[in-house]
Amino acid sequence: MLYTPKYILVAELDKKVCECSECKKFRVLYNHSQMTESQDEDICDSTSDIIAVCSKCGRMYRFDMKYIKNGKDQKRTVSKVREISETNSQVREHIKRNYGSYEALFTIRSEDFITKIVEEKEVKDGKYTEYVYMEK
Ligand SMILES: [Zn+2]
Repeated sequence: MLYTPKYILVAELDKKVCECSECKKFRVLYNHSQMTESQDEDICDSTSDIIAVCSKCGRMYRFDMKYIKNGKDQKRTVSKVREISETNSQVREHIKRNYGSYEALFTIRSEDFITKIVEEKEVKDGKYTEYVYMEK
């Protein structure tokens, strides 16, 4: 199953990201991920390039995030984060352009996103998927 978070919760992260004191979560605007999972979907390892906005102050950030699932254990780690200095509309324009540049093998529609599957292949003991989605 694809890992497609709608939010990144501050409580899940191991470091402080947003300067504002009220920040509890970030809404994901754009996500480009590469994921490997086991046949039974019990083990999953993904790296994501995410653009998300603080739901309190509206500052936008770009995250390099790793998500690891092993059975019931899940962990998200931010390896790199930077604040985006462009305006809101510039960022949305940029996101649209990036998203549009990916050719989809097929798409998956959910309530919140239309996810483009960019690459999918069998790997040793599992499956590799590259996908991209943006907020509707
Ligand atoms: Zn904030």
